[in-house]
Amino acid sequence: MGGRPVWAEVNLQTLRENYFKLKTYTQREIMPIVKADAYGHGAIPVVKTLIACGAKRFGVALLEEALEIKAIFPDVSVMVIGATDPQESDTLVKKEIIPGIFSLEQAKALSDAAVRFKKTAKLHIKVDTGMGRIGFRPGEEAEVLKIANLPNLLIEGIFTHFATADQKDLTFARRQLKAFESFCDELKMKGLTIPIRHAANSAAIIQFPESHFELVRLGISLYGLTPSAQIGGEVGLEPVMSWKARVTHVKSISKGETVSYGRTFQAAYTTKVATIPVGYADGLRRALSNQGEVLIHGRRSTIIGRICMDQTMLEVTKIPEVKVGDLVTILGRDGHEQLTATEMADWIETISYEVVCGISKRVPRIYIEPAEGN
Ligand SMILES: *Cc1c(COP(=O)(O)O)cnc(C)c1O
Repeated sequence: MGGRPVWAEVNLQTLRENYFKLKTYTQREIMPIVKADAYGHGAIPVVKTLIACGAKRFGVALLEEALEIKAIFPDVSVMVIGATDPQESDTLVKKEIIPGIFSLEQAKALSDAAVRFKKTAKLHIKVDTGMGRIGFRPGEEAEVLKIANLPNLLIEGIFTHFATADQKDLTFARRQLKAFESFCDELKMKGLTIPIRHAANSAAIIQFPESHFELVRLGISLYGLTPSAQIGGEVGLEPVMSWKARVTHVKSISKGETVSYGRTFQAAYTTKVATIPVGYADGLRRALSNQGEVLIHGRRSTIIGRICMDQTMLEVTKIPEVKVGDLVTILGRDGHEQLTATEMADWIETISYEVVCGISKRVPRIYIEPAEGN
């Protein structure tokens, strides 16, 4: 693992188990979403594991991410759910990567490239039904009909994205669903039937079956995290990634002494302090200073003082056996205790998505392979 004792363990057997648990929530095709390097878990090992589970199509946010997957798995279908520059159309066509299209200009560039390469380019139409991000808006169906008339294009799919599917109250999500259905129906009336409609993210897969259409887009829950505090607790998901380090230094400081930049922690009594070689450059968010917790010897220990770029200090007075080399669990299980990205996110008012994506490239990923024979 190199010099520094800091690493993330990615359990691909847990990934499999999450996939099959989530599969019981839908009869439709699942497109795993592996953007942002599979939410920080590593796109290639995740894709490989999910192909073995039966997944045939993957979604990413960027062309670069699609190219990375296509380089290793040329036969798997990869779609870019985010925006793609029209200037990248040649690459899309050559590599048979499916873009999400939300302007006529983009579609024309794709069509031109497809004509030049004498190929048919597949695409999915993005519709903005209330997310307010990208997509054709209700009323712009005529633009999609123009795209349908361009040469060498195949409109394989049409999709939209929910703004509030992770809330208990689905009122707005139902309104988006209606708008999406109307959009598709309008196209159908004008003679354009698009075979694959998709809308559901993890939250909608779990609690909004009416939105599953022909395909669902499964992201965060694959990685064992619930889409929100309200949704997904019943699925029995287990986090795929844990994050560990080993203690590099242990000392006692006297009452009145301080720890780290700005002296924001001052000992109220003789305090045992352990140092770990991980900091905000690794994605251990500085906002966790003086409030986040980690596990050591199966017990919770609080981060004291400001988190530095590469190092962090822990209060271990009540865990007297702590010594240099001991295992520290930043995310994951130790004995009966567990720290999840969801809990860490709650401490600093963000979401688990940001916590796992934020574990930086500097933290090596160690893969635990799926069990044999399943
Ligand atoms: C990220 C993303 C998803 C996956 O969402 P999760 O909440 O992680 O399941 C689905 N669709 C689009 C368009 C996305 O950007």
